[in-house]
Amino acid sequence: MQASHNELGALSLTSQRGIWPLQQALARRWCGTAESGAWVLAGDAAHNVHPLAGQGLNLGLGDVAELVQVLSTRPYWRSVGDMRLLRAYERARKADFALIGNTGDAIQQLFANPNPALQTLRNWGMNQFGHNGPLKHWITQRAMGKAHTTPPPRKVSP
Ligand SMILES: Cc1cc2nc3c(=O)[nH]c(=O)nc-3n(C[C@H](O)[C@H](O)[C@H](O)COP(=O)(O)OP(=O)(O)OC[C@H]3O[C@@H](n4cnc5c(N)ncnc54)[C@H](O)[C@@H]3O)c2cc1C
Repeated sequence: MQASHNELGALSLTSQRGIWPLQQALARRWCGTAESGAWVLAGDAAHNVHPLAGQGLNLGLGDVAELVQVLSTRPYWRSVGDMRLLRAYERARKADFALIGNTGDAIQQLFANPNPALQTLRNWGMNQFGHNGPLKHWITQRAMGKAHTTPPPRKVSP
């Protein structure tokens, strides 16, 4: 109530409060088969990242885009539950997660470390990064899920 300045009215607990750490997590397997058929994970069910970089939703949407791409371009004779397809999806998305998730995790750990020498090095590194246009552009494009977009067509003068 205090945090929301009473905007939400009177709040009370309806169950025991659950607490869990905000941290990176990755499901070992993202697809498989059960008695009822094939299953596949996407979004937070497959991975969690520390919320500091605001990338959780983007990663989940990236999963959906990749899954749609893999399934909609499959050969007619493969079913949507074909493990080759679902594993290709898993591999592609785990590669993106490795970059975005691990970068966010490293930044979080770097900022959480109280060592003054590390803090100086961190500030220097962030400064260098801020001044490195191409690297900054590449990272932000990846973070926005634009890694696979094709460049816009070149303008041809008449
Ligand atoms: C504090 C915090 C801040 C964040 N800030 C950002 C941010 O700034 N930007 C950003 O992009 N991301 C942010 N995220 C991450 C983002 O919220 C998640 O990545 C995103 O919501 C995941 O979407 P999802 O659909 O995969 O899972 P969820 O949003 O968790 O949806 C899963 C749904 O399934 C339901 N469910 C669970 N179990 C069952 C069941 N057995 N049967 C039926 N339904 C079930 C749940 O009730 C829920 O509605 C933040 C996360 C946290 C915790």
